[in-house]
Parts: sequence; C-alpha cells; structure tokens
Amino acid sequence: MAYIGCHLSASKGNLAMVKTAESIGANTFAFFTRNPRGSQAKTEDPADCEAAVAALAHMGFGPLVAHGSYTMNLCTKDPEARQFAAEILADDLRRMAALPGNYYNFHPGSHVGQGTEIGICQIADALRKALAPGYPVTVLLETMAGKGSEVGGRFEDLRDIIQAVGSDAVGVCLDTCHVWDGGYDIIHDLDGVIAEFDRVVGLDKLKALHLNDSKNSFDSHKDRHACIGDGSLGIETFRNIIRHPVLGDLPMILETPNELPGYQAEIALLRSLK
Ligand code: FE
Ligand code: FE
Ligand code: ZN
Repeated sequence: MAYIGCHLSASKGNLAMVKTAESIGANTFAFFTRNPRGSQAKTEDPADCEAAVAALAHMGFGPLVAHGSYTMNLCTKDPEARQFAAEILADDLRRMAALPGNYYNFHPGSHVGQGTEIGICQIADALRKALAPGYPVTVLLETMAGKGSEVGGRFEDLRDIIQAVGSDAVGVCLDTCHVWDGGYDIIHDLDGVIAEFDRVVGLDKLKALHLNDSKNSFDSHKDRHACIGDGSLGIETFRNIIRHPVLGDLPMILETPNELPGYQAEIALLRSLK
C-alpha cells in the first residue's frame, strides 16, 4: 500500500499525531519540528516518542517526513543569524534521534544576494557539522520553486549540496508544486523530469514527495499550493505520480490548503488513483 499522509499539528505530541493520521487513512505524516515561523521547539517527551515509535511499527507506517522551520536559513548573510540557524538544525537532528529511521526535510535556504555558490557552501557546512554525531536520521533537501534567491530551485543545486556534504544521510524530497513552478514540466513530461533528476542527482537520493497542486502557471517561480485537482497540475498528473514505478513507492505528504476532513478526502482520492 502506498504511503500517503499530510501535515499534522504537533501540539499534542507524537503519539497523538500517529492516532490522528490513522483516523484519516494516512500511513505516514509530516509535522513541524518547531514553530514553522519562529524557532520555538516543544519540550522533549521521551515516553511519548517511545510510544509513537511502537505505534508506528505496529500500524505499519512508512517513514515520517518531519519539516524544519521556514525561518531556518542556513545561508543567510549575517554570520550570527547563520550560526543560529545551524544550531537549530543541529538541535532538530538531535531531537529526531528519538524517532529513529525517519526523514527530516527542510528548505535549503535563500542566499540573499551572496550567490548560489556561496549559499551551497554555507548549507553544506551546517549539514556536515550537524550530521557529524551520526544521528539515525536522513536529511532531505526540498526542491524549491526558485522564488527570490532560493537555493534548490534547480536539481543541480541539490546535487552540489549533497556532494559537498559527502554523506549518505542526505537525500531529496520532491515537491510537485515547487518543481512545476520552478520550470520542470511534470504534466507533459513526468518521465523526462524524473530522468533528468536521475541524471543530475541520482534517483537513489529521492526519498519522499510533497504532493501539492499549484495555483500558478509553469515556470512562474511563485510557490502557492492548491488542493489536488484544483490547480494547474490537475488530477491526471497525480494519477501518473501515484502509478509511477519509483515515485509511487515513496512516502507522499500533502501540504494542500486543508483541515483534517479535507486531507482525509484527498488521501482517499489519491488511493483511488493507484
Ligand atoms: Fe516545505
Ligand atoms: Fe513542500
Ligand atoms: Zn511550497
């Protein structure tokens, strides 16, 4: 069975998220490791983590795809702010060790005028240091729409970061809205885009998907998510993804504008496409 889920609120703890996920037909999910628009993290609760790990195994969930804070910019210009972001990353990875074997996805960052090359070096630097303790987590770089000075709008950016880190613990999470807005035509040439990803990054690095339709036109570099089938991608694109021999086996996370009932309906819709 395909691993499909959505973003859930982490406010009631990890076990509560597992139960909520199961109640809406999900068998994976995403959650923010801390305030998505700030840096505040919850107090740690080892008993809750242990209970969640047991429940996930018992229920046969696929890997979870945690999401780092949007404000964590590893390649911001100010050295102090950059150091703070690197510390947040390291703390997030340490915390993920309480949920071993899952993924931690984040937005690589915005170089704010420093240039992509310098941005890539700074991101890789922070990752190398944060991964050094050998936590049981795989870090995923998210494909971005290429808004402003975002790093990660091209597959080449992701390849360069992965090569600079030089660790097997780094992979990629492909966001369907972002790649479309970023100029990869997954409507008319999904196979071509995947072949391109394989050529540049390597398909073995692709670990998870964010399934979002897009409010924008191709190559708009905008990044606004729509519900599945309500945007420019359309339902056929998601059918092709769900049925794809490689993509269909990856954990798939919805980040669409929904509350729980909407997510439940979308998960059922996606399962019906298989
Ligand atoms: Fe994201
Ligand atoms: Fe995303
Ligand atoms: Zn987005």
